[in-house]
Amino acid sequence: TDLNAQLRARHEASVARGVGIAHPVYAARAENAELWDVEGRRYVDFAGGIAVLNTGHRHPRVIAAVQAQLERFTHTCFQVTPYEPYIELAERLNAIAPIAGPAKTIFLTTGAEALENAIKIARAATGRPGIITFAGGYHGRTLLTMAMTGKVLPYKRNFGPMPGEIYHVPFPFEPFGVDVDDSLRAIDMLFRADIEPSRVAAIVIEPVQGEGGFIPAPPELFQALRSLCDQHGILLIADEVQTGFGRTGKMFGVEHMGVKPDLMTVAKSLAGGFPLSGVIGRAAIMDAPEPGGLGGTYAGNPLACAAALAVLDVIQDEGLIDRANLIGAAMTAHLKSIAGRNDVVPISAIRGPGAMIAFDIVQERGGHTPDADQTKRVIAKAREAGLILLSCGVNANTIRLLVPLTVRDDVLQEGLAALQSALIN
Ligand code: PMP
Repeated sequence: TDLNAQLRARHEASVARGVGIAHPVYAARAENAELWDVEGRRYVDFAGGIAVLNTGHRHPRVIAAVQAQLERFTHTCFQVTPYEPYIELAERLNAIAPIAGPAKTIFLTTGAEALENAIKIARAATGRPGIITFAGGYHGRTLLTMAMTGKVLPYKRNFGPMPGEIYHVPFPFEPFGVDVDDSLRAIDMLFRADIEPSRVAAIVIEPVQGEGGFIPAPPELFQALRSLCDQHGILLIADEVQTGFGRTGKMFGVEHMGVKPDLMTVAKSLAGGFPLSGVIGRAAIMDAPEPGGLGGTYAGNPLACAAALAVLDVIQDEGLIDRANLIGAAMTAHLKSIAGRNDVVPISAIRGPGAMIAFDIVQERGGHTPDADQTKRVIAKAREAGLILLSCGVNANTIRLLVPLTVRDDVLQEGLAALQSALIN
């Protein structure tokens, strides 16, 4: 039977093509780091639903927490009759977030919504309009976050006009020939050419660019941005949607940077597969918008809050932050051991903190010229070998590894073996 092909035909006839598909594999069920398709074929999952599954598919404690909440209520709307799981989750995030002084939190549903709300809060708190973000950065697909995203194709083309007062500067990455000074010079030029610093509300930055290619921000950049923000009364917003909850080998990516942001956005692995996002920040800033200015019918859904409380327990009780560092070290060692082999496609820039590991596929050994076609071939070969992989990067030549931090050792090894076979020419 060809159930995947049948579903694909129905899919193409019924769903708009603008929703791009990474793999023509239709999911039937999944457990931890394994997934089975509708034909019963098993895959190792190194995509984790795009960084959502640090605690794996259907973690038993997450499922139990959601089932218990299902028996109580599934929705009231927090703005109508609020509920404890939302408050408890806010308390716990306020306690662990790297925010200076007392923190407060709001919950939304998607990562993009968290960014939208962080900007609303920053504008209300500063009374300023301007937003500075980075080329290659990714913040979402809504109108505001699409404009903040630093990549035209495929995110912006035909979707304009863009909302105003959003400015992009280059993100440092050695293979692209951009360093921290270049980024800071671009901000300085922006201040002279386009917008004076006293009209800038916020600088928004990912601790490790995710969609842009798993590019870690140098701590010196964060530190320079922190002092620039302090000097000019600008708010520093860390977008932790992809980096949060243990992925980088710390609870939050910004903990690698040696400075604290004013606001942070979280989503994805926060709720272990349930739709939930949040903005966490300094209490006085978070309280700037007036009552009624923030929220949403489904924002902070009780099932998702229950899931997130279990996720925080699992990260702690299973030592997933240490586990991220061990998994990352194993993946990096494996990649380095095969990178020099002549039968392996040229790969470069093996990188990333914790288990946020990526590498680039390039045209010549030792060079940096991207090879997007070869990247596509490697991903297809990996799928044939039973491994679900994702690419990313502004040149579409980065392979990123987002294996659940709960992965069993044998499943991790199986995935790495499949990756190796896909990299052999
Ligand atoms: N910010 C970052 C850093 C992301 O990686 C993403 C999603 N890839 C988003 C924001 C948007 O999140 P969502 O898709 O849930 O709207």
